[in-house]
Amino acid sequence: QLRALEQDGPLVIVKGDGVHVIDEHGRRYLEGMAGLWCASLGFSESRLADAASHQLRTLPYYHTFSGKVPGPVTELVAKLMQWAPTPALKAGRVLFANSGSESNDTAFKLVHYVHNVRGQPRKKKIIARQKGYHGVTAAAASLSGLPAMHQHFDLPLPGVLRVSAPHHYANALPGESEAAFVDRLIAELQALIAAEGADTIGGFIAEPVQGAGGVIIPPPGYWPRVQAVLKQHHILFIADEVITGFGRLGQRFGCDVFDLQPDMMTVAKMLTSAYVPMSALFVSEALYQTVADASASVGTFGHGYTYSGHPLACAMALETLNIYESDDVIGHVQRVAPRLQAGLQHFAQHPLVGQARGLGLIGALELSADPATRKPFEPARGVGAHLVRCAQAHGLIVRVLGGDIIAFSPPLIISEAEIDELLAKTALALDETLAWVRG
Ligand code: PLP
Repeated sequence: QLRALEQDGPLVIVKGDGVHVIDEHGRRYLEGMAGLWCASLGFSESRLADAASHQLRTLPYYHTFSGKVPGPVTELVAKLMQWAPTPALKAGRVLFANSGSESNDTAFKLVHYVHNVRGQPRKKKIIARQKGYHGVTAAAASLSGLPAMHQHFDLPLPGVLRVSAPHHYANALPGESEAAFVDRLIAELQALIAAEGADTIGGFIAEPVQGAGGVIIPPPGYWPRVQAVLKQHHILFIADEVITGFGRLGQRFGCDVFDLQPDMMTVAKMLTSAYVPMSALFVSEALYQTVADASASVGTFGHGYTYSGHPLACAMALETLNIYESDDVIGHVQRVAPRLQAGLQHFAQHPLVGQARGLGLIGALELSADPATRKPFEPARGVGAHLVRCAQAHGLIVRVLGGDIIAFSPPLIISEAEIDELLAKTALALDETLAWVRG
């Protein structure tokens, strides 16, 4: 809200120290969101600083055009292929870019490219979900299902179809079980495909767990059934793992947690622990072959960025993945996550909290004016924003998402003692916000 920002000014963060950051006045905050769900190794990992310095002194820049690549690209690709969650992606290729938005934009373009090349020029619409967040380029914002990203921008672009978010707490009918809710979502997907014609739908994009839309964890049975429908209609599945990739959910990828078999997979953020911008789009072997044939007949593959596979970003990604392996960071997530999840569940009894939920080191408290009926607060009251301000005054940075949902996504290296600090500060913020609401 730019007018509010003009009045209040920004919080200026000048230094990092593990999972904490420090502002210009020396105040210390536990970063409960790892920035934007991304600084997995915290804010002072010297091994990453050393790797950056080494790479900048060795080869600060080279490109990936016209048959050339900077050295660290080949090493990183080999490592990413080891990490890739499925046989189809392990046998495929990766396309590098600089942000999750750009990589999703690339996926959007490839849905068009591949179907044109395969002689199915009508099969290009892409199904995306309400509350999905896929970034801010014209295509990525179009795929996102958050109204503020479209309003006044003349988005979404044509050809984007929308289905409901698998948010049982908010979207279930009175008394509807999770199983019945999933039945209804699958019927909705099938009806959309039947109405539009499967021959017009080329792709489906989704986050395994929706992040910015509210930390929405799909009910059991959702993913296998969605995937079966996509497969039946030859609709390409793009898994957006920009938040969930590299351990956030307690396994390497959301694909591992939910047994997803995507045709493309987007990663960014924790790929480099966010120390430098980098993203990658994994593309299955089958899609790669189509693209390679087409580039041979066109004469070039007409896509790529000046900074695709930037050597500094590659070096940071490589060192980040090495640290994940050597420090068993994902094992650490599995060990400490239950403490965060138990603490959040404890808040489910709080009079302001409608639902507490989470998985691995991601979580949310969905606030409610009346938890018994799940009634939300009037958005204009700004209850979630008030809670975030209270937390910040106590030295905790968390984020409010639409619908007064308080999100938690701390650095993956957070200790149990630091989780306790996060929970204690959250408890203070909840109680102060309750007093403010009642006052
Ligand atoms: N996809 C998901 C799931 C995201 O959460 C985000 C950013 O938060 C993006 C894509 C966009 O990434 P970026 O901000 O790097 O463009």
